Amino acid sequence: MNTVKIGKFIAIQRKAQNLTQTDLAEKLNITDRAVSKWERGISMPDSSIMLELCKLLDINVNELLTGEKINMENYNENAEKNLVELKKQKEASDKRLLQAEIWIVVFGMLCLFALIAVAAFTNLPDWAKVVMLVAGTIVFLSACMFALKIEQVAGYYECKYCHHRYVPTYKQVNLAMHMGRTRYMKCPKCGKKSWHKKVLSDSEE
Ligand SMILES: [Zn+2]
Repeated sequence: MNTVKIGKFIAIQRKAQNLTQTDLAEKLNITDRAVSKWERGISMPDSSIMLELCKLLDINVNELLTGEKINMENYNENAEKNLVELKKQKEASDKRLLQAEIWIVVFGMLCLFALIAVAAFTNLPDWAKVVMLVAGTIVFLSACMFALKIEQVAGYYECKYCHHRYVPTYKQVNLAMHMGRTRYMKCPKCGKKSWHKKVLSDSEE
């Protein structure tokens, strides 16, 4: 995605609507610095305000993501390309999230071990040791919950039988037996229970 081209396009469309950066920012309830950043290609509008922005600029989301007006003949081709591009970006960010997940758990474990060690090998009063153990456990459990959330939302799980790929609920992930990231869950499509692998793409092969 070419953010510079998109930025220039936003600026052109904004001026075509007779809006200043401040006008546009006010209508979207954001700062004019954010608008200026888009127009310089430094950042992209958040997906939560994209639809509203497009409405104000009198363009569609595809035109925004492409950075130009699209005539209807090219529309499908462009829509396809943008979808592919968005998918690639999601896969890349999911991959980073899943890598971060490992570090979050490691960090939680290290905190817990460090606090256990301090409690075991120092002459602190008992109440202080208890506080440390409780704190260590809370940090560790929070890290695990956070990691589990990442595992739920990043990428997809694949059914062993019908190869359907899906995003499970947090509860489903939480309650499932697992070996690493492979979880024993019920497939929402065929209903069979099996060990579901974590995959990055939702394209079923
Ligand atoms: Zn299935």
